[in-house]
This record gives sequence, C-alpha cells and structure tokens, in this order.
Amino acid sequence: MHFPTTIDKRIANWVSRQLNESWLGDVDRCSSFSPDPDLPDNFVAVRPNDYSGSGFSRGHITRSGDRSNNRIDNCSTFLMTNILPQTQDNNGGPWLELENLSQDLAREGKELYIISGGNGEGGTGTKGFATEIGKPKISVPATFWKVVVVLDRPGLGNRGVTEETRVIAVNMPNVPGIQKKSYKDYLTTVDSLEELTGYDFLSDVLEEIQKVIEAKKDAE
Ligand code: MN
Ligand code: MN
Repeated sequence: MHFPTTIDKRIANWVSRQLNESWLGDVDRCSSFSPDPDLPDNFVAVRPNDYSGSGFSRGHITRSGDRSNNRIDNCSTFLMTNILPQTQDNNGGPWLELENLSQDLAREGKELYIISGGNGEGGTGTKGFATEIGKPKISVPATFWKVVVVLDRPGLGNRGVTEETRVIAVNMPNVPGIQKKSYKDYLTTVDSLEELTGYDFLSDVLEEIQKVIEAKKDAE
C-alpha cells in the first residue's frame, strides 16, 4: 500500500493497492487503530480517538479483510493514514457492497488494482455537517471515490490491461441515508474522476487503451 498524505488535511490523498487471493486468509481482525509511525516529523499523526464523538466512522480506505493473510498486513490497515471520516451509511452500505464484490472477484481468481480516496470537503455525519473533525482538524471528504481494475489472473501487470478490461469507477457522497443504495447507483467513469481529482489514473497503461477504458461506465 502507498499513502501519500496532504500535510494540511491530515488524511491520505489516495491509497493504491493490489488484491488477489494471496492477500486473503483468516487472521483475526487486528482492530487496533494506531497512529502511523512512518509519517515525517512535520506531519501531525492522527490518533484513533481523534474521531471520538465526531459523528463519523473510521472508514478504512484499504479494507481490513483484504489484508487478512497475516497479522502484520491486517494491522497495517488500521494505521490512521488508511482511515478517513466516513458516514456509517456509506461505509456499511454501497462502499461495503463494492468491497464485497471486489473480494468475490479476487476469490474467483482475478487480480484487482484498486485506487481510492476522498474528494472535496464537508460531509454530514450523525452530528450534522462538518468540514473537519477532532483536535488535529482532520478534513472530512465530501465524496468517496474508487477505481477498480479487474484483470483475468494474477501476474499479468500492464500487459493484461486491454480495451476490454473491466474497470469499476464510483463516486459516493459522504452523507447519511444511503445504506440501502447500491454502488451501482454511484457508477461513473475514470475520466470523470480524473477531472474531479486532477489525477491521471492508470498512467502506466498505453494512452490508446486508457482512452477507451477510462470513458466506459461499468454495467449497472
Ligand atoms: Mn469500511
Ligand atoms: Mn488516465
């Protein structure tokens, strides 16, 4: 996993990772949130209880269950740099549904490349609208976005990406009341997410192929 972090927002800009069956196992959930010891000295390391009473859940960017093959990997998902202030209805609703789909695909033998993060500022938790929470002023994203690239099998790398490759792109609001919604209600294109975030996703993929797969919306 890779965690670039904006110094003034106290949250990761994005997290990128691979998922295939080899990452999956049955270790107990670490459940021990902790400050990230690897942040540079001039960064404020967010503490687990900075979220207490905020009205937002500690939303994993890389899902705990996607790193369940050993305890060290699993605990690394509980570092606060992998956590964003997320409404429980999003975290346990459409976001979870897409996490479940991704894990199912990995168990079927696919290899996924997943990039995700928060965008914008201001969400509505159980205590109302907030642009930041906690003493260190942790930025609350307005939306949660994700790009999932689905390759046929592990080890293909870039050459496994073709114009037919399935790419699932979503952008979900950080609001209550969406628990019964499907991730399919929030499908978008990678092109739209590039415009929204300013990032060039899948930049190691040939430009001609990016053009095709970044303009396609996954089937509803
Ligand atoms: Mn979650
Ligand atoms: Mn791109």
